Amino acid sequence: MSSKNGIIIINTGPGKGKTTAALGAALRALGHGWRVCLVQFVKSPERESGEHKAAAVFGGRLEIHTLGEGFIFDNRDQSQHREAARAAWDTAKDKITSGDYPLVILDEISYPLSFGFLDAQELLEALRRRPAHVHVVLTGRDMPAAVIQAADLVTVMAEEKHPFHQGRKNIEGIDY
Ligand code: ATP
Ligand code: MG
Repeated sequence: MSSKNGIIIINTGPGKGKTTAALGAALRALGHGWRVCLVQFVKSPERESGEHKAAAVFGGRLEIHTLGEGFIFDNRDQSQHREAARAAWDTAKDKITSGDYPLVILDEISYPLSFGFLDAQELLEALRRRPAHVHVVLTGRDMPAAVIQAADLVTVMAEEKHPFHQGRKNIEGIDY
């Protein structure tokens, strides 16, 4: 992948900050006048997060596609999740291929990969074929080894403390 200017970035691991760090990169990119596309594979569009609200500030240059069906549970009918993941991937592939977005974020893409809804080789093929200037950030726990191997920058977030364990869940402005 290193023959391109654009790099493949992975934020993975059990600690908090994978999506937040991707949004930090988006803020920088927007500051340089770039268009940014964020595709969310798992989150369902029910709750409007801070990043959704902030998108309006950037006059359409930050595009967010929230195409997940919520959290994937082992004991449920998975066809809905599979379909949502396929649709999200079709959108993501188009956005990457278009070259219109120097930064594309595939948020929580590790889950459809590890559930087998999306083939890692198909993802890697699309990344190999992408326009040379496009940077892609992939987030989510348990990223498959083949994807990690193909990336240029990999950060593994480690948990030291998390307020979740003190009963503080979903803090506005911090978690959503
Ligand atoms: P964030 O979106 O806050 O950067 P993340 O992308 O690293 O978090 P996800 O696995 O996407 O982590 O989980 C999103 C939600 O779960 C957030 O509300 C986050 O605070 C919470 N979370 C992340 N890591 C942990 C953890 N180690 N323990 C408990 N909750 C966590
Ligand atoms: Mg996340």
